[in-house]
Amino acid sequence: MIHRILVTGGAGFLGSYLCERLVNEGHDVICLDNFFTSQKSNVAHLLARPNFELIRHDITLPIFLEVDQIYNMACPAAPGHYQHNPIKTMKTSVIGAINMLGVAKRCGARILQASTSEVYGDPEVHPQTEDYRGSVNPIGIRACYDEGKRAAETLFMDYHRSNKVDVRIVRIFNTYGPRMHPYDGRVVSNFIRQALNGEDITIFGEGSQTRSFCYRDDLVDVIIAMMNNDDDFIGPVNIGNPDEFTIRELAENVMALCGSKSKLVQRPLPSDDPTRRRPDISLAKEKLGWQPKVPLAEGLKHTIDWFQSIQLSDYRPPTP
Ligand code: NAD
Ligand code: UDP
Repeated sequence: MIHRILVTGGAGFLGSYLCERLVNEGHDVICLDNFFTSQKSNVAHLLARPNFELIRHDITLPIFLEVDQIYNMACPAAPGHYQHNPIKTMKTSVIGAINMLGVAKRCGARILQASTSEVYGDPEVHPQTEDYRGSVNPIGIRACYDEGKRAAETLFMDYHRSNKVDVRIVRIFNTYGPRMHPYDGRVVSNFIRQALNGEDITIFGEGSQTRSFCYRDDLVDVIIAMMNNDDDFIGPVNIGNPDEFTIRELAENVMALCGSKSKLVQRPLPSDDPTRRRPDISLAKEKLGWQPKVPLAEGLKHTIDWFQSIQLSDYRPPTP
């Protein structure tokens, strides 16, 4: 069945690949973005397609559109990006969610929220299951993102209970791949850029903190599956790759794949940086029959190839 689909944040790293997949499936796709952390080049290859439309718009402002499905992906996701203007980050999560839930309510559309593993903060439970309520510092530098996303989940559940809006919530764990912003400051983009340019690889803290890295294609598969699951299963559901690595191990992997002679150097650990993170994906396996297929080394190879194909000078840092 062909749908009219709105993708907010559709020009971003995940959103642009999601738009590409949905356009190729034949849906009518509206991509909405304010280009805060992305650029038009991410979706330029889609502009000539008859079933793709691009709108520059900020989701903190209302908009009137007629659609059947909404993927709410708009929000800066890298710590450097979301801390650049923390008040705007919170507004994007909270006011943006209210505006998009309003569109869903008016049109009777199903709406999926791109939530995050950050709702668990610096977790005391490992691996993280969906029923764990998290350990977030509400006044720390990451709170604008973590608490914004937690409030958005609350809004989604309240619109569902009070107004019967058809919602889906996915909690995304660290995801990487082609079209990551090369200067977003996230660990995968930093390490690949540094390794390819022979610059020092910056390990924050001891590098013993862990993350579990999911390749973009695996993640977009399950986001689409969650949107189209017609059972009563609305989430929240963890999605990510449970293979867990220390940051030092990630650096060694990236250096080996790039054939790099860069040096590893230590930098101070940012405050509230989570010590370890790994999704328990039993629920996604049971309810959606999904599990990731792409191992880290293979996903990193595709990502490194993409970094080698771009001109770094085409990318600008985010603007307010
Ligand atoms: P990204 O920064 O590449 O994409 C976000 C997009 O949203 C960008 O195109 C940006 O310009 C746009 N945007 C930001 N604020 C906006 C606003 N007010 N109005 C309209 N557009 C706005 O990040 P991403 O990694 O593609 O993340 C996409 C979504 O997935 C985000 O909601 C993020 O929180 C969530 N997520 C991502 C990860 C990950 O590891 N990539 C992990 C957890 C959650
Ligand atoms: N990190 C690092 N060097 C970098 C960038 C990040 O050691 O150049 C660390 C960071 O402190 C964190 C981990 O890598 O422990 C993942 O950071 P990222 O910003 O990618 O994601 P998040 O902290 O939001 O999971």
